[in-house]
Amino acid sequence: MKQHITIIGAGLVGSMMSIYLGQRGYKVDVYEKLPDIRKEDISAGRSINLALANRGIRPMQQLGIMNKVEKLLIPMKGRMIHDIEGKLQFQSYGQKPEEVIYSVSRGGLVSLLRDEAEATGNVSFHFKQQLNWVDFDNNLIEIQQQDQSPKLVSFDILLGADGAPSKVRNSFENNGVKGVTFDLLDHSYKELTIPARSMDKSMRSESLILDENSIINTQNKKINDSDPIDPNPLFAIDKNSLHIWPRGEYMLIALPNLDGSFTVTLFLPSKGELSFETITAKESVVALFKTKFKDATDLMPELTEMFFDNPTGMLGTIRCQQWHYKNTLLIGDSAHAVVPFHGQGMNCGFEDCYELNALLDEHKDNWQKVMDLYTDIRRPNANAIADMALENYIEMRDSVRDPKFHLKKAIAFELENQFPKQFIPRYSMVMFHHIPYAEAQARGLVQADILNQLSEGIDGVKELDFGLAEVLIDKLVGDVIFE
Ligand SMILES: Cc1cc2nc3c(=O)[nH]c(=O)nc-3n(C[C@H](O)[C@H](O)[C@H](O)COP(=O)(O)OP(=O)(O)OC[C@H]3O[C@@H](n4cnc5c(N)ncnc54)[C@H](O)[C@@H]3O)c2cc1C
Repeated sequence: MKQHITIIGAGLVGSMMSIYLGQRGYKVDVYEKLPDIRKEDISAGRSINLALANRGIRPMQQLGIMNKVEKLLIPMKGRMIHDIEGKLQFQSYGQKPEEVIYSVSRGGLVSLLRDEAEATGNVSFHFKQQLNWVDFDNNLIEIQQQDQSPKLVSFDILLGADGAPSKVRNSFENNGVKGVTFDLLDHSYKELTIPARSMDKSMRSESLILDENSIINTQNKKINDSDPIDPNPLFAIDKNSLHIWPRGEYMLIALPNLDGSFTVTLFLPSKGELSFETITAKESVVALFKTKFKDATDLMPELTEMFFDNPTGMLGTIRCQQWHYKNTLLIGDSAHAVVPFHGQGMNCGFEDCYELNALLDEHKDNWQKVMDLYTDIRRPNANAIADMALENYIEMRDSVRDPKFHLKKAIAFELENQFPKQFIPRYSMVMFHHIPYAEAQARGLVQADILNQLSEGIDGVKELDFGLAEVLIDKLVGDVIFE
């Protein structure tokens, strides 16, 4: 008889893990404190859309659901950098056609994962049911149901997928587990929206007008004005880029949505001269945006309303020494919340699911063995992506403005072409490969040294000294090769 699995949290990671376990034949109960987004019109919470990359895609391919997920995705081939005058510079993320990342709606993806979990026939979701505490000695949890008295539920194996403010992790700490740290970032964020462009007269004139409400655009797709989702929306800025307005100490970014809109996120210091603390009046919002993000401001007619209506979110890093206690395991953000600047929090959580499933395969569902090994394998990698995510904030908001940064990026691509078994740019290692994060971080440090030396005193990749490159790569990377 397989153990019964209880999961706390039906977010992205809890929902994905429930598919794995349901497919393995476990009976799974998932408790989620919020209503079901598939049935009630609730906000998807922070970050309306997310960047999905290879580490997140691999488990969905393994689960056999990627053909459905694909319908939710918009490829982003690189960064579109908007300078202060509104001039654009595109910087490709990778150099192979498949090296793209994807924008995906959080609500759309979590709904699909829940559907697929239920389709296994083994997973039951319990919405509006919140975990209060865990009794690890007696394998009991207390669940608070809306408008009812709390109930006690027993478990065999408990998975805490309840995100950064995890009650499961808090219960570990209440039982004497040490080594949990939370580092609050001194910057916060706010989400805004660039709406889809409506067809103006000039566009309509390029289209064949059929009747008052429906037109055929130049790509011959029928559009009804009454359709809830425009089948061929008009994106106000390039659809296949992740847009960045880097301004040194702060930045704005935008990711595309299927309905033609963009979710825009402002990252700004929480306190200080120019900060969320000081931008409190309509005039200061308009002044900030008009002087620093002029081209984006022109695309957000409801800027100030959104600014004051939408919450300001905190960001931080959670690291845990111990990811399991007795019969309980942490997965996803509950074990390792990271800042969002590498677009890897969800991807890392999905990789947790993939690795946990691989260990269950390898150790024939011996959970005690699996739980120990899982912590040992995942913790160094989660710590590494936490560091790299913090570093990437500087890259996104500042370094991308520096010509030297672009030169190093070009040299890195060239080295990847010339020495493909020894050199892969760090961004590519993290986003397009499955090289463990800790290894990507360690190799990235060596590679940064090589790039510093090779970029010294030159202005373009044509001046690259390939002889020196070969010597440095042999000396510093040696025969530690990529398969
Ligand atoms: C602004 C921003 C942008 C981001 N962008 C990206 C990106 O581009 N790419 C990327 O990979 N990651 C990104 N992330 C990170 C990503 O959002 C998280 O890593 C991901 O949501 C983690 O999933 P999770 O299921 O572990 O946790 P969560 O998504 O937090 O889900 C936890 C679930 O548990 C439920 N829950 C909590 N407490 C209880 C309780 N006591 N009882 C029952 N249920 C409970 C919650 O309601 C929630 O549904 C971003 C994060 C932020 C803040």
